[in-house]
Amino acid sequence: MKKENTFVIIVGGGPVGLTAAIELGHRNVPAILITENLETAKHPRCNNTNARSMEHFRRLGISEEIRANAPLAKYPPQVAFVTRFCGHEIGRIDLTKSRSTTNLSGTEFQSAERSITISQLFLEPILKRNAELKKSVSIRFGFRMIGFVSSPEGVLVDVQNIQTGERSQISASYMIAADGARSPARRHFGIGMTGEDGQMENAFVAGSMLTYFIRAPSLIAESGRKPANLTWILNHEIRAFVFSQDGGERWIVHYRIPEGVDWKTVHHEKVLNAVFGKPVSFEIISSGPWAGGLALVADQYQAERVFFVGDAAHLFTPLGGFGMNTGIGDAINVSWKLAAMFEGWGGPSLLDTYGAERRPIGLRNSRLGVKCSQRKGAWQLPLNIEDADEAGEQARRVFGEFAVVDDLEEYNTSGMQFGERYENSPIIFHQGATQIADTWDNYVPIDHPGARVPDFKITETETFHDQLGDSYSLAIFTNDVDAKPFVDAAANRGVPLQVVKCAPPAHLYQCKLALIRPDRHLAWHGDSMPVNTLEIIDRLRGS
Ligand SMILES: Cc1cc2nc3c(=O)[nH]c(=O)nc-3n(C[C@H](O)[C@H](O)[C@H](O)COP(=O)(O)OP(=O)(O)OC[C@H]3O[C@@H](n4cnc5c(N)ncnc54)[C@H](O)[C@@H]3O)c2cc1C
Repeated sequence: MKKENTFVIIVGGGPVGLTAAIELGHRNVPAILITENLETAKHPRCNNTNARSMEHFRRLGISEEIRANAPLAKYPPQVAFVTRFCGHEIGRIDLTKSRSTTNLSGTEFQSAERSITISQLFLEPILKRNAELKKSVSIRFGFRMIGFVSSPEGVLVDVQNIQTGERSQISASYMIAADGARSPARRHFGIGMTGEDGQMENAFVAGSMLTYFIRAPSLIAESGRKPANLTWILNHEIRAFVFSQDGGERWIVHYRIPEGVDWKTVHHEKVLNAVFGKPVSFEIISSGPWAGGLALVADQYQAERVFFVGDAAHLFTPLGGFGMNTGIGDAINVSWKLAAMFEGWGGPSLLDTYGAERRPIGLRNSRLGVKCSQRKGAWQLPLNIEDADEAGEQARRVFGEFAVVDDLEEYNTSGMQFGERYENSPIIFHQGATQIADTWDNYVPIDHPGARVPDFKITETETFHDQLGDSYSLAIFTNDVDAKPFVDAAANRGVPLQVVKCAPPAHLYQCKLALIRPDRHLAWHGDSMPVNTLEIIDRLRGS
């Protein structure tokens, strides 16, 4: 039997596993990714790649490519509320403002990137192609992990080629388990998930959901409305929402199956006709069930040398679009730390900080989807919402005005995206709690240890984040400090450290010196060169 050895084995080639492969490859870490499917996802789920994920992709050099290959990027991002897809439109939210690179009032620059609507159909091939370009990484579609042995020294994985049936073994120092919701790796250790299991009452998206991936080229024309990325169907017969995939002919329709009904008995044509509200020709490309109303987080993010990322670690209700995006944050976090171990400067407790940092974020982000789902589930639709008369028109107007305001928080998530803070991380020099509340709709830039550091423009096309290195950076915002003590301490421990000198807007940074991690979170800051630079470097490398 063929036997191979590598530093990291990644199990699972969804968006999260592929992101881990790109990050490890970017850092020249030897890795093998195996995934059982022969191709990237053909039945799409995800549509929103948020601005924080795009910041990671920008650092990895692929955000431009993602934007250029997102068919919907050329349309203004909009959400429509309708009675039926071809029925009455009752409200519309333009997301241009909430997706701007500035804050909602337009006064403060927040990020060089903005959230983008891109179906998994288009995102995954870009991630795969870029992972395949990395020299230290081997990407293998069509290979299943059929079992593994874990020990304190590493993992030994049994692999099967699903086309030939041939078996082989891969030993690795570490495993990134990006193996999705069922996560055989997490189950292997008997690690459960805690939280909401989908049985919420009065939630718009909960329990059994059914997705149809359809081709309906005439749908926009038949609707007689302006196109929107996302369309909510609001009537007394059916609960559904529709995502455009390519701005033209392909659509995803999500339908809530009534309680007690088996999804296999659902009459597809009847459901889709009820969603459209008039005969529209369509072809079902694929369909399948999924569980709504989830807010589940794994009880542990690590077992021995195995790290759970993405859906293997958390399962959310997709409203607000945070499942994959949180997973991308997981992949980035664990990958730069594994690179530190490969390069030899990571300390013995560095990897333990993965769960300490990311699990609280999983718990925090899990709340958004269920809250939005419950809020929308409480909507009392007017009885006459579909009536063609004057009273029906008036009822739709009043309800529409309410809906566009009540639903806004689902899309205004800059606080959740940029406001992640690693409050109890042992590799951060904490300074007590900040007075700035962690809200999901409003990001307030703070130079607080543990938080993402505020970004600002250096030129029209380059920002502060762009200047930071792939490893730690020492940012110096003054002319009267010599970087040498930190540079020497880092060199002493083999920690790559880049020095960046610049002048941020005065209100963004209270400090004169900032030690910034590869993932742009603040590890330490101060006003002058400390005497204990070696102690600081040791702490932040997990020693
Ligand atoms: C309707 C819906 C809409 C969504 N919209 C969004 C959104 O807009 N934004 C967002 O951030 N999230 C969204 N999500 C969530 C998002 O789809 C998931 O969080 C994301 O796909 C998880 O990625 P992953 O790589 O962790 O897992 P997956 O995409 O599930 O990939 C795991 C891979 O591992 C493979 N695998 C499993 N076991 C093995 C094995 N033994 N050997 C080899 N390979 C194996 C699987 O075949 C699979 O390819 C949505 C989810 C749903 C259901």
